[in-house]
Amino acid sequence: MFTVGAHLSASKGYVHMYDEAVSIGANTFQFFTRNPRGGKAKALDENDVSLFLEKSKNNFGTILAHAPYTLNACSADEKIRNFALITMEDDIKRLEKTPYSMYNFHPGSHVGQGIDVAVDQISQLLNSVLYPEMTTTVLLETMAGKGSEVGSRFEEIRRIIDAVELSEKLGVCFDTCHVYDAGYDVVQNLDGVLEEFDRVIGLSRLKAVHLNDSKNPFASHKDRHEKIGEGSLGVEALARVINHPALRNLPFFLETPNDIQGYAEEISLLKSLRK
Ligand code: FE
Ligand code: FE
Ligand code: ZN
Repeated sequence: MFTVGAHLSASKGYVHMYDEAVSIGANTFQFFTRNPRGGKAKALDENDVSLFLEKSKNNFGTILAHAPYTLNACSADEKIRNFALITMEDDIKRLEKTPYSMYNFHPGSHVGQGIDVAVDQISQLLNSVLYPEMTTTVLLETMAGKGSEVGSRFEEIRRIIDAVELSEKLGVCFDTCHVYDAGYDVVQNLDGVLEEFDRVIGLSRLKAVHLNDSKNPFASHKDRHEKIGEGSLGVEALARVINHPALRNLPFFLETPNDIQGYAEEISLLKSLRK
């Protein structure tokens, strides 16, 4: 099954996202658990959740929740680290209402503290929020390396995973724009990048792909997404990504600058490129 979706607005609930996904030819979706700039999450509507679970029972892929951008587990400010803890705890609690979903977060920005402190703080957060009975898989996203962002090197992600006790709850989300921006050449050498991922992290950790083109050239550490085929990765490289044997069975999520109609067009383009 080709599992593909886009980032949708969660403001009208799960059933609305499901219907919207189906209307654009998708069979999964990504959404923010709350305002991407942080803040309180809307109360969950139990009826909406149960109707969604019923509707999505068949022929629908695993959904992916995205933590707010403001969540920074390795901030130098204890209050911000505390917000990260409370937010992730609450997000996981909510996601357990839709069992076996995935929850993606940005490892964070160490703001000058250095990578060693960052690895400690991020793994501490995960050691506090993960628990044996949870069904949600928590994904660390590969980052572009903007500023002091952690997770732009596969080694950094590996160090975090190694420092987490319940690491079986962890996976990785591979963002094509970020990885290319970070200096992994998925355009010229996708095989080599995936071999390196396998050697450093292990391909069994790879649970989802953010499928984005990039506004900036290779290794620019900027993190600006572009529409599929309109950026520096290009349509041929992204076609190789969705068809690669190591990736093709993963869910693909578009985070491209599009409205709903634009997403529908990209999904139909991707389906035509799928072998
Ligand atoms: Fe992200
Ligand atoms: Fe992403
Ligand atoms: Zn990004």
